[in-house]
Amino acid sequence: MTAQIELDRIDKHYGSFYALKNISLTIPKGSFVALVGPSGCGKSTLLRSIAGLETISSGRMSIAGKEMTGVPPRHRDIAMVFQSYALYPHMTVEENLTYSLRLHGVGKAEAKQKAAEVAATTGLTHLLGRYPRQLSGGQRQRVAMGRAIIRNPKAFLFDEPLSNLDASLRVQMRKEIRALHDRLGATSVYVTHDQIEAMTMADWVVVMRDGVIEQQGRPLDLYDRPVNRFVAGFIGSPAMNFLAGKIAGSGDAVMLDAGGTLPLTRRLEPGRAVIAGVRPEHLVVSHDAATFHRDVGTVESTGSATYLTSQDGSFQLVQSERTDLAAGDRVGLRIDPAQVHLFDPTTGIAL
Ligand code: ATP
Repeated sequence: MTAQIELDRIDKHYGSFYALKNISLTIPKGSFVALVGPSGCGKSTLLRSIAGLETISSGRMSIAGKEMTGVPPRHRDIAMVFQSYALYPHMTVEENLTYSLRLHGVGKAEAKQKAAEVAATTGLTHLLGRYPRQLSGGQRQRVAMGRAIIRNPKAFLFDEPLSNLDASLRVQMRKEIRALHDRLGATSVYVTHDQIEAMTMADWVVVMRDGVIEQQGRPLDLYDRPVNRFVAGFIGSPAMNFLAGKIAGSGDAVMLDAGGTLPLTRRLEPGRAVIAGVRPEHLVVSHDAATFHRDVGTVESTGSATYLTSQDGSFQLVQSERTDLAAGDRVGLRIDPAQVHLFDPTTGIAL
């Protein structure tokens, strides 16, 4: 049932504007792949191209080894789940679930039986007689999932399915979708602009910008080893800080333009301009081992975490301990040298 999806040098352009540029990607059978990136990066276009809802301009695409060029969406044997749910308002949950089966000629009794199975899988059994307007957002999302499952597709394509839900329901539905994926052994491609959603749900994350794949890999590999400044800034929350500086004469430290130094675990060419990337959770307030000092701008606490922002706005720090520091205080900072990322100021490429 489940299938590998293969994309080979896909381009999609609207006139002279390229929404997708030379996209090659293998989505292995049974994997959960997230396509993530800022608004307009092309992730929905890529998903819709896999579904056959967009015609690609060039390149090749196969699902389960079968070339998809010219194959219409209904013959691709894949199911899409949208953020808008796209439920029929005048049909009950059961009718929504069975509609596409009935359309494909499945008998009434068999369709009813399948709906019961899918309702059990998605926790909808007690809601089969309700209309969409009588359901919560999470329940509607489950009906949309159920409708995708019922036809036993080769792959599931999700287009920001959780964007309409509130924060706590999103967290719950993330787990439900992932658990369902695991139970069904399905191949899932999941579009989101939310990197936390991508990181927590997917086995493999594809980061896109301006129609190209900037980096793809396992979630924590992207976090630990971003290949460029864009990915470094996109993955991780709160975002990585970027501090301009130059490599010191000794070669093994960065002299920050705004004052102070960051020690490194390796040597680079002295005098070379760099951008140092420092994650907020790796910065440590220090009285005696500080390598640079800044004035505190804001202090915010959520109870479990404390966020400090420097007065010059150049960086943020997050720690689990509470603090007595207040706006205007001078604070000493240090970081484990192994946690300092370096980028070329011009190309943004990781050094
Ligand atoms: P979002 O998160 O905002 O949905 P996205 O990453 O999914 O963004 P796409 O919807 O794939 O982005 O769009 C990619 C680019 O292609 C955008 O710049 C968009 O304006 C452009 N685009 C999409 N459809 C068309 C079209 N029919 N004609 C012209 N340009 C289009």
